[in-house]
Amino acid sequence: MRRMQIGVIGGGAAGMTAAITAAREGAAVTLLEGGERVGRKLLSTGNGKCNLGNLDLSADAYYGADRDWISDCLSRFDSEETIRFFRGMGLLVKERNGYLYPMAEQASAVLDVLRSELRSLGVETVTECRADAVSREKGSFAVSAGNRIYRFDRVILACGSKAAPKTGSDGSGYRLAGDLGHAIVPVMPALVQLRCRESWLKEVAGVRAEAVIRETSGAAEERGELQLTDYGISGIPVFQMSRRINALLRERGNGSEAELAVNLLPDYSEEDFAGLCAGRKLLQTDRTAEEFFTGILNKKLMLLFMKLAGIRRDMPISRVESAKTDRVFGLCRDWRLHVTGSNSFDNAQVCAGGVNTAQVGRNMESLLVPGLFFAGEILDVDGRCGGYNLHWAWCSGHLAGKAAAQQT
Ligand SMILES: Cc1cc2nc3c(=O)[nH]c(=O)nc-3n(C[C@H](O)[C@H](O)[C@H](O)COP(=O)(O)OP(=O)(O)OC[C@H]3O[C@@H](n4cnc5c(N)ncnc54)[C@H](O)[C@@H]3O)c2cc1C
Repeated sequence: MRRMQIGVIGGGAAGMTAAITAAREGAAVTLLEGGERVGRKLLSTGNGKCNLGNLDLSADAYYGADRDWISDCLSRFDSEETIRFFRGMGLLVKERNGYLYPMAEQASAVLDVLRSELRSLGVETVTECRADAVSREKGSFAVSAGNRIYRFDRVILACGSKAAPKTGSDGSGYRLAGDLGHAIVPVMPALVQLRCRESWLKEVAGVRAEAVIRETSGAAEERGELQLTDYGISGIPVFQMSRRINALLRERGNGSEAELAVNLLPDYSEEDFAGLCAGRKLLQTDRTAEEFFTGILNKKLMLLFMKLAGIRRDMPISRVESAKTDRVFGLCRDWRLHVTGSNSFDNAQVCAGGVNTAQVGRNMESLLVPGLFFAGEILDVDGRCGGYNLHWAWCSGHLAGKAAAQQT
């Protein structure tokens, strides 16, 4: 019997998984990758350690228009499947607080086992081959890449998004999908640093502190290690809220801002903190302002808060108006920052938006173009930090590869 000819466009996490799965199902698979090598983005994941999944998996960890659709996909390839998939290729996986990593703590180990598996399954991997058009002709597909035309029975589009374009994902997949009639939900950077209006942030650049960060209209609230930069804020809690903040700014229109309230002492109740402040005022009357505020938070932060309250650091605290002292104490628990936007796709880990899943079946096949499948971040699905985005790549890649290889 003639083997099904499948073309996978994009050799990232999703494309490699789709190719492996389809080849295991008996299809003849060709993987077309625009870059010099497959899996470039994978190498930079999890700070080089690759957080490849999470045991606490549910659609709540994802954004995208259709949560039921996402939930159904996840139920057919869960975290246990991810562990099995990698174990089957020789990669040991370990878990830390639910987060999954390769035992070797090296993203390169993940890429190495995927590449070995592609090779041993006989997948033809063609690098430096960027697909520039896909068309459907008499029940098959023609994929043109430079001056070559490839013909396939089925095509899986796994071109990634626009995030981190240096790794190869330049957004060209959206055009390929769009040319075949698919609607693209407008894209924006997600899991990205936020830029703030406050220019004095430069004075505290480099400081890291545990904080609860709340968007004051209620769009987002996160806790974790806040990192201050010369242009704004970064760190896991900022990445986690960046998608909702970018959506809010888009909704509010050009030039708008989002206000954040930062609590740098989240473990103190209001009463406990009031008691602490009152005690300090009673006992530390002989100090300079700088000495008086020492030991509460990072020194750079306290100096900035004193400046914002109009207190000179060498002033005797006994001569500082009580309202100004209270202002500094207040800033420790309610420091307002104003977000004007985020860093660009260059710095984003993922992209919100993409191919509209309303036009994609639960086996990842297009509802508009039979024989065309999607996998990975090209779809309108993006997850929180914590291994969810790579899980989506393995999950959707597996579902697409399996369905595409099935003979009808
Ligand atoms: C710095 C960083 C750290 C991250 N850390 C984590 C993490 O620890 N855990 C986690 O879950 N997620 C993480 N992510 C997100 C995760 O890496 C992505 O969601 C995931 O890799 C997406 O996989 P993909 O295969 O859909 O796309 P990609 O990995 O982007 O792969 C797409 C591939 O398609 C190729 N391509 C594009 N267009 C064409 C074309 N026209 N023709 C041929 N080839 C084409 C590209 O060159 C690329 O190789 C991180 C992302 C970044 C940038």
